[in-house]
Amino acid sequence: MISPSSDLQAQWAQVRAMLRAEFGDTAFGTWLKPLEVARLDGDRVVMTVPTQFMRDWIVAHYGDRIRSMWAGVNPAVRSIALSVRPPEPRGAAAAAAVDPVPVPPPVAGCEPAEVAPEFEEMGARLDPRFTFDSFVVGKPNEFAVAAAEKVAASLSPPFNPLFLYGGVGLGKTHLMHAIGWRIREVTPQRRVVYLSAEKFMYQFVRALRRKDTMSFKELFRSVDVLMVDDVQFISGKESTQEEFFHTFNALVDRGRQIVISADRSPADLSGLEERIRSRLGWGLVADIHPTTYELRLGILQTKAEKLGVEVPVRVMEFLAARITSNVRELEGALNRIVHHASFSGRPISIDTAREVLKDLLRAHDRRVTIEEIQRAVVEHYGIRMADMSSSRRARAVARPRQVAMYLAKQLTTRSLPEIGKRFGNRDHTTVMHAIRQIERLCEEDRSLAEDVAALRRRLQA
Ligand code: ADP
Ligand code: MG
Repeated sequence: MISPSSDLQAQWAQVRAMLRAEFGDTAFGTWLKPLEVARLDGDRVVMTVPTQFMRDWIVAHYGDRIRSMWAGVNPAVRSIALSVRPPEPRGAAAAAAVDPVPVPPPVAGCEPAEVAPEFEEMGARLDPRFTFDSFVVGKPNEFAVAAAEKVAASLSPPFNPLFLYGGVGLGKTHLMHAIGWRIREVTPQRRVVYLSAEKFMYQFVRALRRKDTMSFKELFRSVDVLMVDDVQFISGKESTQEEFFHTFNALVDRGRQIVISADRSPADLSGLEERIRSRLGWGLVADIHPTTYELRLGILQTKAEKLGVEVPVRVMEFLAARITSNVRELEGALNRIVHHASFSGRPISIDTAREVLKDLLRAHDRRVTIEEIQRAVVEHYGIRMADMSSSRRARAVARPRQVAMYLAKQLTTRSLPEIGKRFGNRDHTTVMHAIRQIERLCEEDRSLAEDVAALRRRLQA
């Protein structure tokens, strides 16, 4: 018996299998298993869940992935809708066995409803995927990880605040959630609140509107560990800055732990008042450096293992070399390749990877040219363009030249000989040496590491 609905159920079975592979048995069992597919409405798949709470959680944490998996399995699908299904009446199980198509819910219930603010919690929920166990440690992030673990393991703040900073997609949010999970596990009596700076502002503004800033203050000041993500977004709004600062000081005075993240260092948070900026830098400032090739490879290996998929080493090397921007994109690329293989039935190879990631790789290729890199470095260090290809060995020009070679390797797809050629016809071994040198120096020399990070940010902006 073939019907359109049985097709839909078969596709759903595929999507479910992918969800389970990607998010693991635990998250799948908790959040995704209760999902049911109801019907296809034009280009929209309508699914149902038992409760409003689950609906909101799934939309927030898995919505995008579910939609793209559906689109992968059935190209006609453009969007998904989740609605809350009515509770099953007694004996429904028997009835359902006869009629496999769930009763379509009312269409009005399909629109993603906004959560009423009253029911919102003060903080955001922690993502079950973001734990210390699932975080791959390498040179670029080991300092930040050690600091995060220390905070999670200490009953009184070892440093306050812990300020984590680094570019987008390098694991700041992941580490904050990991701190939260660890504390809940080890000292569950401690009250941990994690939220984005935006949410913090939103709550404050709401309290202002209701003339109820008192309880806002009480609420936050009763917390043992407060983590505020992406504080660069607080910049500018004066009253919120003020409130943030008061809350911050009150918590610090009471010996509570604060963890802050931002995409730049405290000193570079230009929208913040000077006293707040300097106060944020009093604790421990831990930066997460851009990934290295080794770390990217390590992350790919770990993720592939988690997905339970054999990915040829050469494909992982290819990805690690080509997708250098951040871990989020790297993960996305791996997921796409794995999913493609699972429904095309073709083995994973560099060729299929190229094909599946065409758009992504092109964006990376286009990203920066060697000349742009040279120009940025020249400006940054106040040297001359000619110094990029000259044979002068004075450190004041040789070091920036090495930085430029390093960035050329990281940010473009040029080979070592090609890079050498653009730097006054140097040999590829010279380029190799420059790259190693900069990699090594970045670990020892903070200011150099910051120069390199700033240049990279500027070039990739
Ligand atoms: P940020 O908050 O710095 O923008 P996220 O913490 O959201 O970045 O990380 C982006 C994605 O990359 C997340 O899925 C996260 O789990 C993953 N990720 C980042 N760094 C690592 C790492 N070292 N090991 C494993 N996963 C990582
Ligand atoms: Mg983040």
